[in-house]
Amino acid sequence: MKKKVLVIGGGASGLAAAIWTARSGASVTIIEHTSRVGKKLLSTGNGRCNLTNSKMDGSCFFCSEPDFPMKVISQFGWKDTLRWFSSMGILCRSRMETYYYPMSDQASSVLQALCLECERLGVEILTDCVPRKIQPGKKKGQPFFTVLTDQGNICGEGLILACGSKAAPNTGSDGSGYALAEALGHRIIKPLPALVQLRCQGNHYKSLAGIRTEAALSLYIAGERIRQEAGELQLTDYGISGIPVFQLSRFAARALNERKKVQVRIDFLPFMDREESRVFLKQRMEEFSYRRAGDLFLGVLHQKLVLALSKAAGIPPETPVSGISAGQRERLFRNLKEYEALVSSANPFPNAQVASGGVDVSEVNPQTMESRLVPGLFFAGEILDVDGSCGGYNLQWAWASGKMAGSQAAQKGRR
Ligand SMILES: Cc1cc2nc3c(=O)[nH]c(=O)nc-3n(C[C@H](O)[C@H](O)[C@H](O)COP(=O)(O)OP(=O)(O)OC[C@H]3O[C@@H](n4cnc5c(N)ncnc54)[C@H](O)[C@@H]3O)c2cc1C
Repeated sequence: MKKKVLVIGGGASGLAAAIWTARSGASVTIIEHTSRVGKKLLSTGNGRCNLTNSKMDGSCFFCSEPDFPMKVISQFGWKDTLRWFSSMGILCRSRMETYYYPMSDQASSVLQALCLECERLGVEILTDCVPRKIQPGKKKGQPFFTVLTDQGNICGEGLILACGSKAAPNTGSDGSGYALAEALGHRIIKPLPALVQLRCQGNHYKSLAGIRTEAALSLYIAGERIRQEAGELQLTDYGISGIPVFQLSRFAARALNERKKVQVRIDFLPFMDREESRVFLKQRMEEFSYRRAGDLFLGVLHQKLVLALSKAAGIPPETPVSGISAGQRERLFRNLKEYEALVSSANPFPNAQVASGGVDVSEVNPQTMESRLVPGLFFAGEILDVDGSCGGYNLQWAWASGKMAGSQAAQKGRR
C-alpha cells in the first residue's frame, strides 16, 4: 500500500508539495477550502508570474532565523525551479537579466501545467473542502493524521500545511492555516502585511496622485536609517507605492506595529549626488531666472511634483525664479533631495502581496521542513515566518519549501 500524504492548501507551495510527494511514490490528497486551486498564482507578476530569480542569496529573504530560507533554497535553487518547470513543458526567459517568467508570459499557463502534472500523477484535489480540526495520532508506531472536514474525515500518514498567509485573502489565503498550526502546538509570529503600499501623513498627496518618477528612498525607523531602495516611485492620493516602497514596507509595518516613528526620505534627483544636485539647482536657477518657479524643472521632473515641492518650500508657483530667496532655495533643495514622508500605516492585508511573520521556523527542520514538535507534520510556503523581496523570491520559496516538504513527507517512515 502506498503511503498517503494530505496537503492542506492548493496554492503554489501546496501544488509543488503534492507533485513532489507523488513523484516520490506516495499518494496525495489536496484539501483546498475555496472552489479552485492556485487563485493567487494567477495574479502573480501582473498576470505574467515572475517565478524565480537568478540572483538568489540570503539578502533576498527575511525571517527571524536569517539563515533558515537559504538552508532550504540551497537544496532546490532557481536552476532546479527552471528544470522542474521545463519538465512540465514551461520554458522560461529572463527579463531585466535575473527575473524569470514563463515564455508564454501567462501565469495561467504555470497554474495549468501544475494542475496537469497533478492529474498525470493521480493527485486527488478536493475543493470547497474546509478542514475544521486536525487530530494527530499514531498507527503501527507511525504518525497518522485525521483531518475533520465539512466533507467528512480524511486520513493520511503524513500532513503538509501549505495554507499561505493572510495576504490577498480574496485568493483564499485568509490566515485560517495559522489556527490549524497553532492548534498543533506551533507558535505564530504575528503576521503583518509586506510588499504593500505605505500611507503617509498630510493631505497634499491628493495633488500628487498618479505621478510615477525615479527616486531613491531611505527608510528611517526611530530616526535611524535602516534601508535604502531605488526605482520607480508611484505617488498615490494617500501616500507612496511602487517596487522600492514594497521592498521597504515589511520593515515599516513591523516598526509601526512596535509604535516606532517611521519616515521615508525621498531623493527625487537620484542620478546626482548631493553636491551635484546643489550645483544643478544653482545652474538651473541662473539659466532660467526669467521663468516662474513652477516651471523651473520643466522637462526634468513631473510638473505636478515641482508645484508640490515648491509649495512645500513656501514658494508660490507664480514667483519669478529670480525672486526665490536663499532660504526658499535651501528648502526647495531639501525637498528635492530628502523629501520627508511620515508613514502613518501600511495598507492592510487585502492590498499586500505577502505577509511577514507566520509559523516560527525554530520549530521546523530546514533540511526536511518537518515540524520539530509533531512528527509527520510538514510546512511549505508563506505560512512560515519567511518572506522574500519582490522579484520571484516568494514563489521560489514556495517551490523550494514545497519540494522539500513533499519529497520528505513521502519518504518519512520508509527509511
Ligand atoms: C498580486 C500578487 C502578485 C504576486 N506576484 C508575485 C510574483 O510575481 N513573484 C513571486 O515570487 N511572488 C509573487 N507573489 C507572492 C506569491 O504569490 C506567494 O508568495 C505564493 O503564492 C505563496 O504560496 P503559498 O502556497 O504559500 O500560498 P498561496 O498561494 O496563498 O496558497 C494558499 C492556498 O491555501 C488555501 N487555504 C488557505 N487556508 C486554508 C485552509 N484552512 N484550508 C484549506 N485550504 C486553505 C488557499 O485558498 C490557497 O489556495 C504575489 C502575490 C500577490 C498577491
